[in-house]
Amino acid sequence: KLSNRLLTAAKYVKAGAVLADIGSDHAYLPAYLALNKQIKFGIAGEVVKGPFENAQHEIKKEGLVGKVEARLADGLAAIELTDQVDTITICGMGGPLIASILEKGKAKLANHPRLILQPNVGEKEVRKWLMQAGYAIVAEEILAEDGHTYELIVADYAPTEAHLDEQALMFGPLLMQTKNPVFISKWRQEILKQEEILTHLEQAKVVPLAKKAQILATIKEIEGVLN
Ligand code: SAM
Repeated sequence: KLSNRLLTAAKYVKAGAVLADIGSDHAYLPAYLALNKQIKFGIAGEVVKGPFENAQHEIKKEGLVGKVEARLADGLAAIELTDQVDTITICGMGGPLIASILEKGKAKLANHPRLILQPNVGEKEVRKWLMQAGYAIVAEEILAEDGHTYELIVADYAPTEAHLDEQALMFGPLLMQTKNPVFISKWRQEILKQEEILTHLEQAKVVPLAKKAQILATIKEIEGVLN
């Protein structure tokens, strides 16, 4: 059974899509979508041999040869424009890595596929990249599973709607409107973390005032969004 995290990503893949799942490991996401006849074709991109072989194994085991194809390649090098990929998923990596994969592979985005991204950390880097590339966020989800909090960001190419201010980049333009319990808990924890850093700073002999002010400002900003 697919994790809730990947099921949430799957929800945003349109019926009949040609999907590339980059950093696919076992190819669970494209395999699930192909088994449920949700996609026309799936590509499972992997840069590491072990996970690439996991993907190949899963595809054979599920009888999906010809429906899902594993490709050993770095990032978007796994796809060609002629594949006519209309949806790209990149899940379970850090935000900066996701952003760098997209930036390095920009030429492969010429057909403006939908991007479904699930950064484990560093979500702000992902939103920043989307904004500068002319992608507007059309859906966001935040969920807790196995003691972790995951954010999912769905974006379509729409340069005129892509702008986000600093606050939206940090909290997520849609997540900060909905403020579901997972969102509130995530940012309450962040306040506690910042307060802990502050306590440590106050114990230091030389108090770095600028740093202290910055932390207080961050706490105030989070409280402002939560209230
Ligand atoms: N996407 C799956 C998920 O969300 O459950 C697997 C996530 S796993 C933690 C991250 C995978 O991304 C690893 O298998 C790793 O080898 C792969 N990866 C990391 N950098 C990559 C890159 N530049 N191109 C393709 N795959 C990459």
